[in-house]
Amino acid sequence: MKKARDLKELDRIFGKYLGKKGKITILLKNLKSLPKEKRKRRGKELNLLKEFIEKEIEEKAKEIKEKLTAEILKKEKIDITAPGKKISPGHLHPLTQVQRKVEEIFQSMGFSIVEGPEIETEWYNFDALNIPKDHPARDMWNTLWLKPQNQKSKIKNQKLLLRTHTSPVQVRYMEKHNPPLRIIVPGRVFRHEATDSSHETNFYHIEGLMVDKNVSVANFKAIIQKFYQKFFSASAKGYGGPAEASREGGERQIEIRLIPCYFPFTEPSFEVDITCLACGGKGCPACQKTGWMEMMGAGMVHPAVFKNSGLTPHQYIGGGWQGFAFGMGLDRLAMMKYKINDIRLFYSGDLRFLNQF
Ligand SMILES: [Zn+2]
Repeated sequence: MKKARDLKELDRIFGKYLGKKGKITILLKNLKSLPKEKRKRRGKELNLLKEFIEKEIEEKAKEIKEKLTAEILKKEKIDITAPGKKISPGHLHPLTQVQRKVEEIFQSMGFSIVEGPEIETEWYNFDALNIPKDHPARDMWNTLWLKPQNQKSKIKNQKLLLRTHTSPVQVRYMEKHNPPLRIIVPGRVFRHEATDSSHETNFYHIEGLMVDKNVSVANFKAIIQKFYQKFFSASAKGYGGPAEASREGGERQIEIRLIPCYFPFTEPSFEVDITCLACGGKGCPACQKTGWMEMMGAGMVHPAVFKNSGLTPHQYIGGGWQGFAFGMGLDRLAMMKYKINDIRLFYSGDLRFLNQF
């Protein structure tokens, strides 16, 4: 009894001796069958024993209850002199920070921010952008197609997919807005491919589009060069080297060059390189000694894209609407700005990484 650890155990002991079928209860019941003298003596002994057990149990129960109360008090004790717990405030993900910076720069140059759906139709993702079925250019995008039974598309005979770029918004936007227009389209895109330090199955893309009467490649060059100068000057943590030293008026001097290239939805098309950020153009291992780094794909909007957007031919042929479009990876921009060597870090949820921003 003295060893009982809790009230339940005490209950069990009580039952064993004093309960309805308890040992002592049964002995008391059986007294009747004894001769008178013996019954008197045995009765007295049993009652003493009964009282003794009851008293012991009561005392033990009291002890256990006191101990419990003490434990609760100890546990719930408030130390009013203890220092408060610090709430560590969170912050924006590095990709969000970079996206906002990009948006801010383009907004300062008159561009609007536009968004589009992540689930896209085959038409907007490919055909409308002059990439017809069976065109080899479709191989440039490893597409995640959605199963037909999951489709809720109201558009007849349209296969659905996870967009491979935010370029579909070009056509979506021009269907509803007449030029002149300047937009950028940031957003998440998806590719069906193996991941490694520079590939992810989902990442962020920024599409740009400017259409007006006399927009030329010269306009594109000026705007994009300004963008990179502003972007890589703004609190470029961790960047040093000669390029940093050649800042002018707080803005980093970055040259750009255009290399002829092919994209189905632009004509002519080009790849855009910028001065290597690590060496400032002198040539280093980071740029394979060329002094240049590849940054984006761009070009003049293909007439077929205007046509697919519902803009009538006379509006874009012969002094009519023309414009440029460009597309770049937001992750790559962030990686270059912060010298990050693995794209997967952005999606790892690792606080050791995220807390550095
Ligand atoms: Zn370099």
